[in-house]
Parts: sequence; structure tokens; C-alpha cells
Amino acid sequence: MKGICPACEKETELEYVTRVEDIAVRDENIPVHVEYFKCLECETEFDDPHSTYDPLEVAYHEYRARHGMVQPEDIKTFRERFGLTQLELANLLGLGGATLSRYENGALQDEAHNTMLSLAMQPDNLLDLIEEKTSVLSDEKRNRIINLLKDITEEREKSFLSIFETRFGSYPASILSGYQPLNVAKLLNAMVFFCKGVEIPKTKLNKLIFYADFKHYKEYSISITGSCYAHLPHGPVPDKYDYYMATLFYDEKAIFIDERQFPNYTGEFLSALKEPDLSIFSTTEIKTLAYVKEFFEKYNAKEIRNFSHEERGYQVTRNGELISYEYAQFLRI
Ligand SMILES: [Zn+2]
Repeated sequence: MKGICPACEKETELEYVTRVEDIAVRDENIPVHVEYFKCLECETEFDDPHSTYDPLEVAYHEYRARHGMVQPEDIKTFRERFGLTQLELANLLGLGGATLSRYENGALQDEAHNTMLSLAMQPDNLLDLIEEKTSVLSDEKRNRIINLLKDITEEREKSFLSIFETRFGSYPASILSGYQPLNVAKLLNAMVFFCKGVEIPKTKLNKLIFYADFKHYKEYSISITGSCYAHLPHGPVPDKYDYYMATLFYDEKAIFIDERQFPNYTGEFLSALKEPDLSIFSTTEIKTLAYVKEFFEKYNAKEIRNFSHEERGYQVTRNGELISYEYAQFLRI
């Protein structure tokens, strides 16, 4: 095709190139569809000046998705939901207004800022920020947002409790539940969190949940989900595990299960179809979930199974027995 080449500064024969190219984002290569013109006379490559398509933006989007990071449109939606201006939110977070604006426009946020943002986007934490930083918002706006946040929290608690208690029953807090009553909403959302942005074998998910609860108990003397864990041949598994999986798969449609045939067995791989609701977790709980996900990121099913077999709580129990949280003190992570 004919067109103006910016290097030759005249009309030349151009080729329209579309292909997939790896774009480096931090330490990762991300394959992205790219399109550009190439001048066949001087071989200069240049972007279509009329196109708004930005491969770097797409690569950043994918990178954030892989790492469970906040996307620019999430920040904007969140801000608008509460009627906050960019400057107000930036001041609540202690960020520069320009920085927040860059993030909303697609710049890749650094890790510390990402954590700050994702925490602030949970109702309980936003409430804390607003109550703490009294000078940022007008009284009228503060009160309006505080009331909205309280409504959101109440609604959520009502709906979760009624559905899950009838289905799963409940058991009292004890050393077998990490002194926390069973919280199915947290259990399900933690499972979705672990499947978000990655694909993991089913047996690995069991272990991640176990490690999250036991690690939180080890650090803070209370579990996250209140789940009991049983000693099974493949390692520790949440009690009633299959019910939870069925709920996530059939009812919530929150995870996808991909069955793959291998020579000697069928593998089941899970990935999340929904965003986990992280607003129901406390700060230390989120920190623990993220730590466990990261710690075992590279472990396959067999490696994490073998790792869990070395845990004291697993070694002192027999098949089918519940594992007491008292062994969390010896946890190897
Ligand atoms: Zn040219």
C-alpha cells in the first residue's frame, strides 16, 4: 500500500505488519499483538498515527492480571463509586496527585503503591483511612462515604452468613479450627485468590489453604478461615473440601476446572473466573495469603505435597485425623 513515510518524508510503498511480539515488563516477557507500518524503501518502522492501540498498555494489563495487581480502570471505578476526586484519593493514600493520575492513565504502579491501593479499596480499610485523615474531605463528604461503607459491610455480612450456614453448618472455635469459627466466605474467597491469575493443580490448592491458615495462626494465634484440616495421603486438606470445590465450580462459577489426561492419571487444573472479594479479609490475612501464594509460586503438585509431608502436624497424625493448630508453631514457612 502507499503512504507517507516519516523518514523518507514522501509517499512510499508501505507494508502493514501485524504480529505477536514479546514485550519485557519488569522481569517478564509478555507476548502482545503489535501492528505497525514498515517503509519498504528505507525499512523504517513506525506506528499508525490514527491508531489508539498501545501494545505497552496491553502488556501492562496482562502483567497486572498475572500478578493480581490493581488495574487502572479498577481505581477509577472505585474512586467514582465513592465520589472521590483523584486529589482526594491521593491525599488519603499519601500519594502525589500526579502519581495517582498516571496510574489511572495506565502507568505500571510499583509494588508498594499497588499494595497501598488494593488495601485502600477494601471497605474496612477505606473507612479507617477516612476516619484517620480528617482534613482531606469535607465533613459532608466524609459522613456520606462513612454511611455508604457501613451499609456495604452490613449487607455483605448478612448475605454470606445466611447462605453458607444452612449449607455447611458451623462448628465452634477450638484449637482444631485455629480458634476461629468457620467462615466459609473467607475460605471460598481465599481459594479463588489462590487460583487468580495462575493455573494450579487441585491438590496444590488444598495445601495453599492449609499453609495460609496455619501460617496466620503461627504469627497471630488465630486462623483465617476457621477451617479444620484432615491428614490425607496427599497431605493436609480442608475438612469437607469437596463441598467447597463444588460450590465454587457449580454455584458460584468462580473457578474453572480443566481436566487433562496424562499417561497414568487425570490432572485437574484450576483457574479463577471471578475476582476474589478481598474486602472481607483483614490486613494481616491478606498479607498471609499473598505470602503463601508467592512462597509456593514455583512448586508443582508433587513438590508442595512432599513439602507438606515434612510438617510436624502431618507427621504426628494418621490418615483421616484432624491436624491441631498447636503444630503451627513448627510450620516450615
Ligand atoms: Zn521510508
